[in-house]
Amino acid sequence: MLSAKTLKSLGATLLRGGAFKPRTSPYTFQGHGEKALVWMQQAARCHSLNTISEVMSAEDIPLLSHYVDVLQVGARNMQNTHLLKALGKQNKPVLLKRGPCATYHEWLMAADYILNGGNTQVCLCERGIRTFESATRNTLDLAGVAYLKTITHLPILVDPSHGTGLRELIAPMTHAALAAGADGTIIEVHPQPDQSVSDAEQAIHFSDYASIIDRYQKTTCT
Ligand code: PEP
Ligand code: MN
Repeated sequence: MLSAKTLKSLGATLLRGGAFKPRTSPYTFQGHGEKALVWMQQAARCHSLNTISEVMSAEDIPLLSHYVDVLQVGARNMQNTHLLKALGKQNKPVLLKRGPCATYHEWLMAADYILNGGNTQVCLCERGIRTFESATRNTLDLAGVAYLKTITHLPILVDPSHGTGLRELIAPMTHAALAAGADGTIIEVHPQPDQSVSDAEQAIHFSDYASIIDRYQKTTCT
């Protein structure tokens, strides 16, 4: 509730929370499941925010759809064609994250699985790819954002949180993403970033989020 209230006041429009989380390790926090969707829905309603959460299987679509406004397909499921076909039959926007090793073509073909089913509400999300570099969690491919803008009409968001894995890089990569033509960003924010049960190293505090947003509010006003 605190996050919803604070982020709304700072200009956020979409509240994202993982209830069913595809963690790399089965020994780490896996999400609170359905009850987390209830919490998020209540917080979002109180503060007029839309919501998004990850759906990991076609069978879970009805449950997620009951609670959220946008369905997220995570990087690990970008080529889960069974899930993509099922999402093609939904009347809900879908955020399709790029697979960690997917080419632009493979990513767009994954989007086509959804579009061809009749669901035209697809948004891409660049979240970094796997390269030889290990200093950052992934390699955020902003050239891909600029390139895709030349070949597809689909909107593209950038996720600098998973794209870098480092909170110090969230502000510069957010600004760079918007300069590259991204339609928006999704950023992991936490009231006490170091205490986050998931991805603490990449979570930023409300005050850091405010500084990022402030730059655009100033730009708009001048
Ligand atoms: C997430 O958005 O919470 C997530 C797990 O990201 P990704 O699918 O990009 O790894
Ligand atoms: Mn995460």
